[in-house]
Amino acid sequence: MRWAVGTPLVVLGLLVGLWQLSKSWSFQLLGELYVRVETPEKVVALTFDDGPKPGQTEAILDILKRHGVKASFFMVGKNIERHRELAARVLAEGHQVGNHSYSHHRLIFKTPSYVQEEIDKTDALLRGLGVEGEILFRAPNGKKLVVLPWLLSRSGRKHITFDVVPRDDAEQDVGLLTSRVMETVRPGSIILFHDGGEDKPGTIQAVDIVIGKLREQGYRFVTVSELLKLGGIASASGATTASRVPPAE
Ligand SMILES: [Zn+2]
Repeated sequence: MRWAVGTPLVVLGLLVGLWQLSKSWSFQLLGELYVRVETPEKVVALTFDDGPKPGQTEAILDILKRHGVKASFFMVGKNIERHRELAARVLAEGHQVGNHSYSHHRLIFKTPSYVQEEIDKTDALLRGLGVEGEILFRAPNGKKLVVLPWLLSRSGRKHITFDVVPRDDAEQDVGLLTSRVMETVRPGSIILFHDGGEDKPGTIQAVDIVIGKLREQGYRFVTVSELLKLGGIASASGATTASRVPPAE
């Protein structure tokens, strides 16, 4: 009788645990996961996901150019295929370009060969654009369990998440997006915006405002790879990660 009650509860507990693990920004089982870096310097990395998308990506590029800021764009492979010239423009303007999978499907509960193909196809597209050196990876929807971290760690790839999340995928209120960034940003932060997906007029305005406000506070902007070189310990790998990343202040 006790088993009859207990077993479903244990299974439910495991499922809830797996779900929490899959969506954690700061913890994964294997390999290197970077949420932010530890640095006393007032330096941050702006990142843009899900593009390239005509209109939005261009608007973001224009703002970055006007401010003289370099950012990092985690691109979706199928969008690179559709908008190759736009992807090339991002690169030509000196921004870092990373891999955000090929189709933007969640990479959990998928076979290793499926996940590897999602990584490889986008790597090949990025190489075709002329990307050299290390290609950083960011999981679609920030989701990962075992297969993705294992594949990334096996090939020494860094998984990049974020610690400043204005949630512009769900919200386009400029004031709210701006205040969410300004309330949570700190030296070494990685800020998540989106240039892809639905139209995001609020994001475009918020990015402009946030750059101005952070500059006023003495921050400078670097790409994610530059940020990783500056930081001592980022959010590192494995079971110690959670305790090595201080809670947000
Ligand atoms: Zn995404």
